[in-house]
Amino acid sequence: MNVNENMRKVLDKIKEYDKIYIFRHFRPDGDAVGSTKGLQRILQLSFPKKEIYLQNEDFSDYLAFLGGEDELQSPENYRDALGIVMDTGTSQRVSCQNFVHCKEIVKFDHHIPIESYGTIEWVEEERSSTCEMVAAFYDAFKDELKIDVEAATYIYTGMVTDSGRFRFRSVSGNTMRLAGLILDQGVDVDVLYANLYLKNFEEFKFESYVYEKMQITENGVAHIFVNQEMKDKFHLSNEAASACVGYMDSIKNVIAWIAFIDSGDGSIRVRLRSRFVTISELAERYNGGGHACAAGATVYSEEEMRKLIAEADELVKEFKANNEGWM
Ligand code: AMP
Repeated sequence: MNVNENMRKVLDKIKEYDKIYIFRHFRPDGDAVGSTKGLQRILQLSFPKKEIYLQNEDFSDYLAFLGGEDELQSPENYRDALGIVMDTGTSQRVSCQNFVHCKEIVKFDHHIPIESYGTIEWVEEERSSTCEMVAAFYDAFKDELKIDVEAATYIYTGMVTDSGRFRFRSVSGNTMRLAGLILDQGVDVDVLYANLYLKNFEEFKFESYVYEKMQITENGVAHIFVNQEMKDKFHLSNEAASACVGYMDSIKNVIAWIAFIDSGDGSIRVRLRSRFVTISELAERYNGGGHACAAGATVYSEEEMRKLIAEADELVKEFKANNEGWM
């Protein structure tokens, strides 16, 4: 497997420091948690004398089965340390903003690079997940690095979740080869899938309610607004409510789908998904960003929400008018 210049720089930087802090984005998903825990474990096994900590201020109930993270340390401790920020396109999305106090910062990411914030940046936006990059990193330096089933389970979690179980276009032959390498460490996929994909019966009731309430625009944009009342009705946390974007992902003719979740603080979280048509630029116009077909944004009123839906509808209309062969 290839060693590129940036991964070499990342390894050299890691070797330079005795103390390393690893950060990720807030509202963590499988890739954010998997990549940080996976890299931490690989580095702990490979460099047992180094101190390596995960530093984050918010956590995911959904991913709690992967285990905890480290206690937050005083930013004073960061001053002689290397910070590695993973799976995070913009500095404002880092869960622990004290990361800026690290002596040097490595950006290790697969999002569209809309902001540069690291001393060293290894960004490959065509990778299906940051975990795939961790797997590539291990593969490139496997003579020097160690892995075990625990690290592999974290890494496989991000590879599976960020690629929609290896369904998205971002999945390449390399993704599959690296997934094979990781799987060969002994990952129990039955246990992992049970933790990731089994749902409580209550969640199915919410799902059926979403199908009842969601709407589809003239040109094929599915959308749902999960307001406070709906969250109360189904006893949903913000994290559980936001899962509903996935319910709309297999409707014929719908090539973009959007979930709006009332955050309860005056803002509305927007989760945008698509196939074929790029929606990340739309997200960028609404305080967001992400990937071509999976992005996030924030709006502050129902009026803004309607405007975003209208723009999404226009995007889809234009795509359908100018493209053939997608369905
Ligand atoms: P989400 O719907 O929150 O899962 O986000 C989809 C993708 O877009 C993820 O890769 C996020 O990291 C990214 N993303 C979400 N919100 C933002 C934002 N406000 N700015 C930049 N990237 C984002």
